Amino acid sequence: MKKANDVSLSLPEGLVIRTIMNNSEDTIYFKNLESKFILNSKAHAIQFNEDNVLNLVGKRDFDYFPNEFSRAAYEAEQAIITTGQAQIGIIEKWEKPNGEVIWFSASKYPLYDENNNIIGTWGTSRNITPLKKAEEELILLNQKLTEANQRLEILSTRDGLSGLYNHRHFFDTLAITKAHKNRLRDSGFSSEYSIILIDIDNFKKINDTYGHLVGDSVIYNIGELLVKSIRLTDTCFRIGGDEFAILQVNTSLDNARLVAEKIRSQVMLTPLMIENHMINLTVSIGVASSSEVEEITDLIALCDTRMYESKRNGRNQVT
Ligand code: GH3
Ligand code: MG
Repeated sequence: MKKANDVSLSLPEGLVIRTIMNNSEDTIYFKNLESKFILNSKAHAIQFNEDNVLNLVGKRDFDYFPNEFSRAAYEAEQAIITTGQAQIGIIEKWEKPNGEVIWFSASKYPLYDENNNIIGTWGTSRNITPLKKAEEELILLNQKLTEANQRLEILSTRDGLSGLYNHRHFFDTLAITKAHKNRLRDSGFSSEYSIILIDIDNFKKINDTYGHLVGDSVIYNIGELLVKSIRLTDTCFRIGGDEFAILQVNTSLDNARLVAEKIRSQVMLTPLMIENHMINLTVSIGVASSSEVEEITDLIALCDTRMYESKRNGRNQVT
């Protein structure tokens, strides 16, 4: 660091000192070895509600500030006296008895006499309460923004009725899965993923017989059943009115078919109790694997065709 010369005063010393001590907005003080005030700026007197700066002489922080606050300042000053090391930009919190909170940024330095002996400390203190308040508001705003973003993320990826991931997220996740598979393939590893498309059989009849709200409950319950049927690494989506999809990473066509068959029989064997109606359901299912086609849209189309084949062949089956 560049070393500057000492200040040489081109103004009378008394004028300089009085100007600083009478006009500085920051409080300035000089303390002896016992941390008692020797000299204080006018701002300091105003801070302590004293009419005369001389009233402060011989007093200590303990006479004005709460105990904890004064102790921290005292300990800092004793450390400075012992080490000769200044402490710059200490953040201090003053909680007034009326509940008001004032924040300071304080700097404390060793005070030397003519012979270079430490005879106390001196320091300045700036009220940074408005800055702190702005900072707190910013933190709060940031939290709110994060929460809003999280809500938005949920809204944009989830289906409101079932709580499952939605149609758009199905495509996004498939794209990511495909990219991952391609990266693995380029590194010499093979990986395969499969999709299962599930459509409730004759769902319109449920709506027509029991009403739309019961229909909604059926969709919710089937969604729950699907989530319970899959592994942690599988993902379940509601991609249409009564249509669901499951994405299974690292899963062959044969293994996906086994899961699909399990789902089919579980739905068939699990009557739903909704508003005192016992509702028996079946689902038609299509299964396809990434090993069969390259493009995502072709994979979905293939799976969809198979699901409709299940419908055509009499429903309640896996193709
Ligand atoms: P299929 O066996 O051929 O699948 O016949 P389906 O009666 O199930 O008919 P389809 O799958 O083509 O139609 C599904 C129906 O689901 C159409 C629509 O009225 C109804 N639906 C779509 N979204 C909702 C929803 O959010 N709530 C309710 N209650 N019904 C819905
Ligand atoms: Mg249907």
